[in-house]
Amino acid sequence: HVSVVLFTADLRLHDHPPLRAALDASDTVVPLFVRDQAVTAAGFDPPNRRAFLADCLADLDASLRERGGRLVVRSGDLVEEVCRVVSEADADEIHMAAGHTAFAARREERLRRALEADGRRLFVHDAVTVAVPPGTVTPASADHFAVFTPYFRQWDRLVLRPVAPPPRRVSVPGHVTGEPLPARGDVGGVSPALMAGGEGAARRRLTAYWRKGLDAYDDTRDDLAADTTSRFSPHLHFGTLSPVELVHRARKQGGPGADALVRQLAWRDFHRQVLAARPGAARADYRTKRDSWRSRRTAAADIEAWETGRTGYPVIDAAMRQLRHEGWMHNRARLLTASFLAKTLYVDWRIGAAHFLHWLVDGDVANNQLNWQWVAGTGTDTRPNRVLNPVTQAKRYDPDGAYVRRWVPELAGVGAPAVHEPWKLAGPERAALDYPEPVVELSAGLYRFRQARERAR
Ligand code: FAD
Repeated sequence: HVSVVLFTADLRLHDHPPLRAALDASDTVVPLFVRDQAVTAAGFDPPNRRAFLADCLADLDASLRERGGRLVVRSGDLVEEVCRVVSEADADEIHMAAGHTAFAARREERLRRALEADGRRLFVHDAVTVAVPPGTVTPASADHFAVFTPYFRQWDRLVLRPVAPPPRRVSVPGHVTGEPLPARGDVGGVSPALMAGGEGAARRRLTAYWRKGLDAYDDTRDDLAADTTSRFSPHLHFGTLSPVELVHRARKQGGPGADALVRQLAWRDFHRQVLAARPGAARADYRTKRDSWRSRRTAAADIEAWETGRTGYPVIDAAMRQLRHEGWMHNRARLLTASFLAKTLYVDWRIGAAHFLHWLVDGDVANNQLNWQWVAGTGTDTRPNRVLNPVTQAKRYDPDGAYVRRWVPELAGVGAPAVHEPWKLAGPERAALDYPEPVVELSAGLYRFRQARERAR
């Protein structure tokens, strides 16, 4: 009796219900990962995520080998490759985690049809890549929640499934083989300070954060320079950490830090249930009627200044440079840079979202597109017209300017608060800095944004 476990966005052995179920049902299993050509064709594996994925696969393979098994990697059309492996292994069961994007749903459906036509059974496991699957909690009169707070109230009352222990032994049929594992070193164009991927790195991060970090999370998570958020996001994206396990641990731990982390994990599920109900929101405005006036502006010079971190607004430039250098950006910085592009520069949010998706190692359709919409005011924010002021925000969340000075060396010698508004420096001091003037005056940006709104009314 042989089963295939298809790994997708769940590249771990801890708390892995599909693997558990396969091991319970079968003597041997084939742990399979398919590098789906459709993902590459859609441009969804840019260098940072491809490099991180290589780490994840290498780590998963090593952990399976420690248990007597190995990872089988194939490339091509996912459905065709799975069917090929299933027939080579003569497997009767295939286990995988549920995905929640339109792409994942279509792929799963094709796979189900192909396998069932061949007399095999596909088991799709819920609550592997999310803590609470879309559709589990719904409001009385709609198919999904459009507002976070009532969603969270219900979400937080749910009892989650127990955590599945990692397997002790995995035996893989010898004749089923794969291709060589991709290597991180073979990927070009990767951010120089990209985080290490893989379940090993994830578990080390988890242990370290629990020991030192979580307690202060609630107080310091908006402090840009302190950088005290968990950085679990790429691990959650690739599934090297389990959201169910994290919620269990945090609830057990208790306290303001753990509670705040649980709330953020609920945001992740919240956006997934929006996207599952409205798959089109990945591309088009979630609130199309109300916000048909939202910008479709494509201003090349403004966009380039934003993308390269040369807008003349230090906190924006620091954040945009961090994004390229690390493939990651602090949440507060994501809010500021997104608001700056979509509102102050009044550029189409989708242009910014695409730039983020290219660079972010945690780049994720649900989290990225829906957070962008939230900030742009086209999404689920209940105050869609607020505009974040990058100077006020910088003074609040980077009070002594350390974040700016870390990423914008041109301003390394400037103290706070001038470091957040270098245009206010005296003539000669300002002239000595090799740093651009603001691309737009904040009041002019605000005026353009408000005019557009008025015109639409
Ligand atoms: P922590 O603060 O430690 O939070 C723990 C976890 O909670 C995160 O890892 C994440 O999984 C989840 N989380 C936290 N905040 C949010 C949120 N607002 N929405 C959904 N989940 C959240 N997150 C991504 O994972 N991928 C993206 O592509 C992405 N794009 C974003 C784009 C914009 C414009 C904005 C404003 C936010 C975006 N986020 C995205 C959400 C958030 O910024 C990141 O999840 C967070 O900064 C990751 O750092 P962390 O793991 O240290 O977060």
